[in-house]
Amino acid sequence: MSYFDIAKNEISEKCAVFGIYGAGQEASRLVFYGLWALQHRGQESSGIVSSNGRQLYRHAAAGLVSNVYHEDDLARLPGHIAIGHNRYSTSGGANGAHLQPILQSKYGFAFAHNGNLPIVRPMQDFLDTHGVTYDGLNDSEMMCEVIGAHLDNGADLATAVQKSYPLFQGAFSAVIMSSDTLIAFRDSCGIRPLSIGKIDDGFVVASETCALDTVGAEFIRDVQPGEMIVINKSGMHAHQITKPNQKLDIFELIYFARPDSNIMGLSVNAVRENFGRALAKEFPIDADVVIPVPDSAIPAALGYCRESGIPFEMALMKNRYIHRTFIRPTEALRERDLKMKLNPIPELIRGKKVIIIDDSIVRGTTFKKEIAMVRAAGAAEVHALVSSPPVKFPDFYGINTPRQDDLIAANMSTEEICKTMGADSLGYLSYDGMIQATGLSASKFCTSCFNGNYPIDIGELKKDLKY
Ligand code: 5GP
Ligand code: MG
Repeated sequence: MSYFDIAKNEISEKCAVFGIYGAGQEASRLVFYGLWALQHRGQESSGIVSSNGRQLYRHAAAGLVSNVYHEDDLARLPGHIAIGHNRYSTSGGANGAHLQPILQSKYGFAFAHNGNLPIVRPMQDFLDTHGVTYDGLNDSEMMCEVIGAHLDNGADLATAVQKSYPLFQGAFSAVIMSSDTLIAFRDSCGIRPLSIGKIDDGFVVASETCALDTVGAEFIRDVQPGEMIVINKSGMHAHQITKPNQKLDIFELIYFARPDSNIMGLSVNAVRENFGRALAKEFPIDADVVIPVPDSAIPAALGYCRESGIPFEMALMKNRYIHRTFIRPTEALRERDLKMKLNPIPELIRGKKVIIIDDSIVRGTTFKKEIAMVRAAGAAEVHALVSSPPVKFPDFYGINTPRQDDLIAANMSTEEICKTMGADSLGYLSYDGMIQATGLSASKFCTSCFNGNYPIDIGELKKDLKY
C-alpha cells in the first residue's frame, strides 16, 4: 500500500485521548476539561462517549472543544465512565465520517486512538477469515472490527484487546470502554505518550500529564509500552502484554507535547530549554537579541539566552485566539493563517542583529515567512536557528508530516535552505546534541523523521523513501 492509499484511508493522525473511571464523578465533564487541556494535539474534531453502567452515550462534532460541547450536550452524556478524543486530521478530513471515539453499538464499546498503524494487512487477513468487510475503514475502525470479532467469539473486553494486540502493527496509545470497564493500552514502543492519574477513588488516563493536572488528578505513572491497564469496579489492573521497547517519538519533546507535561519522567519544558542551551554551544553567534517563534520555541529560545547571555525579546506577537496552522489543507489558507497569527514589534528588532529560533522546519514555509517578517521590521542581520535536526523522513506513526518530497531538508542542503529562507545564517541542532539534551539514551526514542530508522515496520512504505 502506498502513502497515498493510506492518506485516502484518512489515517488517524496525532491526536489526544482521555478516559476516566470514577464512581461519583461527572465523568463527561472531566473529559471535557481534559480534552480542552489537550486541544494542542488536535483541532479538527472532538468527541466524548460516556456510560452510566448500562448504556453508552456519544457526542462528537467537527471543531474545537470549546465549540463542540454545550451544557446540554454534557447533560446528555451521563455516568461515571467516559472517554474522549481530539482529532488532528489530514487535509479535507474534517468531515463527520471518522470522528472519534468510535462507538461500536453492536458490541457495546467505544474506542479512541492516538497514533497510526502503517501496516493493516494482518488485520485485513484476520477480518477476511472472520467474514468481516473492511472496505473504506481506516486503521482505527479496523482495530474496532478486530476487537469486535473477538467479543463475538465470547471474549470479554480485556481479553479481546489482548488477543488483538499481535495484529496491531503500528503506533497506538488508545482508550476503550464498555458500559462497566475502562481500558488503556499502548503499543510495545510507546511511540505516543499516555499517562495514568488518580482522582478520588477513580482513575484517569490522558495523552499528557497536563490534562491530569487540569482535572485535579494526581499523576501515578505512564502506561508502559506494551501494557494494558484495565479499570473497573475492582480497581486498576496492569497487564504487560508484549515486551516493552520504549521508543517515544522525540517530536513529542521537540514540538508536540505541552511544556507543562511530563513524559518518561522528563519535563518537556526542561528538555526544550536544554535544546536551546545546546544550540548556544553549537552556534555561538554575535547577536543583540534572541527572538522565539511563539509558542513552541519559547523554552528553547530561553535556553539559548541563559546559556549565551544574549537578551530575550518576545518580538513576534502571537494572536492567542488562532490555533495551530500547520495542518491547514492548502498553502493559501496556511499563509493567511500565519499573517493572522504573528505580528512583529519593530522597535525590538530595528537595526539589531537578531537570532530567531523555531522548534522545527518541516516544509520550510513557516520559518521563511517569519524570517521575512523580521527583516521587514528592520533587522540588521537575521540568524535562524532550529531546536531540532533536519526533518528528512515522513512520519507514519501519527503525525501529519508530508510526503518526503515536500520535506525541505530531504531535498536541500542546509546552505541551500538558508538561501531559500533569506537568512544570514541557519543552524540546526545536531542529532547528538538533541539526544544529550534529553539526558536519556538514543535507544529510548523514535527519531525516524531525522534518520529514517523506523522502529515499527512500515512495510511497503519504505520502498518510496530516499535515504
Ligand atoms: P513548515 O512550515 O516548515 O512546514 O512547518 C514548521 C512549523 O510547523 C514549525 O513552526 C513547527 O512549530 C510546526 N510544526 C512542526 N511539526 C508539526 C506538527 O506535527 N503539527 C503541527 N501542527 N505543527 C508542526
Ligand atoms: Mg511553530
